[in-house]
Amino acid sequence: MPVAIDEAQENITKGMSIQRGCENDCIYCFARHATTRFASSFINKEQPWTEPVKIESLKKARAGQTTILFPFTHDITEINVNDCIDFVKMQIASETNVIIVTKARRSVTTKMCEALKEHRDQVMFRFTIGSMSNDTLIFWEPGAPSFEERIESIEIASEMGFDVSAGLTPYLDINEDDTVRLIEYLNGMDEINRHVWISKMNNPMPALSCAGRIDETTMSTARELAASQTREHILSLHDRVKHLPKVRYISNVSSIIFGDSSSC
Ligand code: SF4
Repeated sequence: MPVAIDEAQENITKGMSIQRGCENDCIYCFARHATTRFASSFINKEQPWTEPVKIESLKKARAGQTTILFPFTHDITEINVNDCIDFVKMQIASETNVIIVTKARRSVTTKMCEALKEHRDQVMFRFTIGSMSNDTLIFWEPGAPSFEERIESIEIASEMGFDVSAGLTPYLDINEDDTVRLIEYLNGMDEINRHVWISKMNNPMPALSCAGRIDETTMSTARELAASQTREHILSLHDRVKHLPKVRYISNVSSIIFGDSSSC
């Protein structure tokens, strides 16, 4: 029997994927940077990130791994949704739970929920939303869906009976008030019955360089965002949202707040 999904474990489990490359084209994408840096025989360094390459032999989670995050080096789109559903079903069949992490497209969420509705006890969604501003989302995640579409996806998954979390992973607004407004909004959504995860952006400079985004506008926005996510700012943010019951922190934030590397 599979064990119940324990979200507290979600950040220490390994992410799995079916392809390398992603249409969302996030300019801070660490996976793009890592793939280019550690390119192996199966991936061509010159392959554009927005033209994904399938992983030839898909694996089940390793023995003893009760929960995986999926996907890790791509998102779920109209092009790969059927392959993603097959992959999730393969993990479920071997009694591994799956937390689907996605900047969700409405049509894709509908398809996933329909295909996986018999497995609601083994599948949950975490919808990634780093800002309420579509200008901000388009700047950082040019190929990803709008704020409104991601919210609709939350509603669809909840209506279909799935457990739902959201993730400001990372949060993208420079102004703390905007981040607080988004956290309060998500915390207040009845459709989110689990958590609202928060992380800051890790050093984006290698990823920006990898994405060819070293123009002055991008670099200065990245510097401004980094300056708004220092220890002092994170403690201030925590102070303003710590009373919200769904708020949880990914390790790069919890280590600043609580002085350890756990996710709380
Ligand atoms: S959705 Fe994830 S994998 Fe895709 S480009 Fe954005 S950060 Fe990278």
